[in-house]
Amino acid sequence: MFLSEHKAKELLAQYGLPVPEGRSARTAEEAEAQSREIDSRKYVVKAQIGAGGRGLAGGVKFAATPSSVADEARALLGSTLVTEQTASAGEKVESVYIEAAVDIAESFFVAIALDPKTGGPMLLASSEGGVEFERRALRDAATVKTHLLDESGDGLAEFLAEVGIGDSAVPVLMAARQAFLENDMLLLEVNPFARTGDGGWMVIDAKVSLDANARFRRPEFEGIASDLRRPASEMAADRNNINLVKLEGNIGVVANGAGLGLATHDMIVDAGGVPANFMDIRTTATSFDVAKGVELLLEDPAVRVILLNVHGGGMTSSDTVAEGVNFAYSRSKRALPVIAHMNGHNAEYGIRILHDRKLPVETFDTMSGAIARVVDLAK
Ligand code: GDP
Ligand code: MN
Repeated sequence: MFLSEHKAKELLAQYGLPVPEGRSARTAEEAEAQSREIDSRKYVVKAQIGAGGRGLAGGVKFAATPSSVADEARALLGSTLVTEQTASAGEKVESVYIEAAVDIAESFFVAIALDPKTGGPMLLASSEGGVEFERRALRDAATVKTHLLDESGDGLAEFLAEVGIGDSAVPVLMAARQAFLENDMLLLEVNPFARTGDGGWMVIDAKVSLDANARFRRPEFEGIASDLRRPASEMAADRNNINLVKLEGNIGVVANGAGLGLATHDMIVDAGGVPANFMDIRTTATSFDVAKGVELLLEDPAVRVILLNVHGGGMTSSDTVAEGVNFAYSRSKRALPVIAHMNGHNAEYGIRILHDRKLPVETFDTMSGAIARVVDLAK
C-alpha cells in the first residue's frame, strides 16, 4: 500500500521531518489559488502519480508566479506521464502538488527498509541522490551504503559522515526511524534528501509503502493509502480472502494455493491459451469468499470460459469451492462454461455439488485434460 507523495510528506511532517510547504490541486485554477497561499517566491508543480521517475519525464515543473503555476498545472493535468517506473501505457495525472521551491545545495538518497536478517530498520544512504540515482545504483551497487539503525543511534553519526551527509542529519533520520516503525512501513524513501543553501535539510520527495498486513492497526490509513494502480477487482478479491491478479487473456482461472495457481497458469500457456487472471483462494476463504472471486470473473467481459482447478486440502476442501461457484452462478446472469478438475479432500463431493445444480460444467479427471478442453473452448 502506497501513500501519495503529499500524504507521505504530511505524515513525515508530523514526526518533525522538514518538508516544503505544499498544497494539492485538481484544476489549474485551484493550483493558482493554492500557490497564492504558499509563502514563497518560486514554486514547484509536481504531477501526483503512483510512480517515480517524474523528474526525467517532465512531471516536475518550476514556476516563478502563481499564473505560471496555473499554466504548468494545466499542461500536466489530464496528461499521461510515461516514466521509467510506470507501465508502458503510463499514468494519467489527476492531481498536482504545488510546493515552495527549495534551494538545493546537495542531493542525497536515504531510505529505511527492514533488514531481512535482524528484522530491524536499516538505513540506506548514498551521496548520489537525485533523478539519476536509480540508474547509477543499478550500475554500481556500491553507491549505496547501509547501516543498522538501532534505537540508541549508535554509529549513525560516523555512518553519515562516511556517506558525506554529516551528523547534522542525525535528528532527522532518528525521527524518520520513529515514523517508519510507528506506522508499520515497509519502505520509507527520500530522494532527494537535500542539503539546502542555508545548511539545513529538506525532504524533497518521499515514497512510503505501508505493510498491508498491519492494516487493522491503522484504520486511519484506509481512505488515504491506496493501491492506486490496482484494478478494483483485485482489491475486492483481497477483501474476500482471495489473491487476484488481472491478466490479459480470456480464460478465467479459479485455483487454490499460489503454487497450484502458478502451475495452472503455466500449463494453460503451454497449451496455447491465455489466462485472464491469476487466482489464489487463501486457506481462510469461505464459500462466500469464493463466490465473490468467481463473480469478479463472471463480471469481466474478457472472460469467455472458467477453469476450476482445485486441490482440496484440510483448510479449503473441494466442496467449499464448489458451493462458492454455485452461489456465484445463481447470482449472475452470465452462465459461462465451467471446466473443472478437482482432487484431494472431498473432491468427489465437490464434483457432485457442481453437477447437482444446473451449471454448464464439464469435469475432467486430469489437469491436462481440463486444460486442453478449456484452451479449446477459449479459441
Ligand atoms: P521523481 O523524479 O519522481 O523522483 O520526482 P522528485 O520529486 O524527486 O523531483 C525530481 C527532481 O526535481 C529532484 O531530483 C530535484 O532535482 C528537482 N526538484 C524537485 N523539487 C525541487 C525543489 O524544490 N528545488 C529544486 N532545486 N529542485 C527540485
Ligand atoms: Mn524522487
